[in-house]
Amino acid sequence: MQFDIITIFPEIFNSYFNESILSRAQKKNLIKIKIHDLRKYTIDKHKTVDDTPYGGGAGMILKVEPIYRTLLDLKIIKKDGVKTKKALKDTKVFLMSAKGRRFNQNLANKFVSLKRIVLICGRYEGVDERVSNYLVDDEISIGEYVLTGGELPAMVVVDSVTRLIGGVLGNKKSAENESFSRNKYLEHPHYTKPEIFCLNKKTRWRAPKVLLSGNHNEIKKWRKKHDNQH
Ligand code: SAH
Repeated sequence: MQFDIITIFPEIFNSYFNESILSRAQKKNLIKIKIHDLRKYTIDKHKTVDDTPYGGGAGMILKVEPIYRTLLDLKIIKKDGVKTKKALKDTKVFLMSAKGRRFNQNLANKFVSLKRIVLICGRYEGVDERVSNYLVDDEISIGEYVLTGGELPAMVVVDSVTRLIGGVLGNKKSAENESFSRNKYLEHPHYTKPEIFCLNKKTRWRAPKVLLSGNHNEIKKWRKKHDNQH
């Protein structure tokens, strides 16, 4: 699976995508992440990616042409702005947007079956509406709050989708039996060593004894009882 991220701040992604599971997934060729600098797709001397809003008002708006040119270069659309045959088959283009469709585990599960996901990161006051009207399949929001840009939301999508891809997590069961899988809160609380954490003579925080008992039946019962059902 390939992720293409379109942004005016390409550096933002370096540290997060080059650590831990996401880094390993790329090294194992399970995913590819390509970051595209929107500024490279400007054709004026000043490399203008934004401009003031028509009709007045605060803030700057990302322009439609550089985004169009990026998608053209990535062979996702043709010159007439319509998706290429190949892209129609296996590619979805999303605009990160606070007012978009709410991203959740269900949507992440759907996205895993795609070959290529293109994520467009807005900035400032937003993005020329023609991007949403003509160039994307959907707008995606990661929650009801406003961020300064679409980069964090794009990282959230890449992260949550990647960990569902076979071979990415060390243990196959990890992605099957956890929070929100099958759309329920399924997970029980976790503990690891030490069994007793002594903060001082009086204060001791214990891990539940049953989990150390080796009695799988009892452990199963305890976990079921403590499933985080809301
Ligand atoms: N004026 C816009 C906010 C712009 S924030 C509004 O009122 O909705 C700048 C950019 O950050 C947006 O274009 C979008 O790409 C991104 N963004 C902000 N909050 C987001 C969220 N909750 N989910 C996804 N993207 C978000």
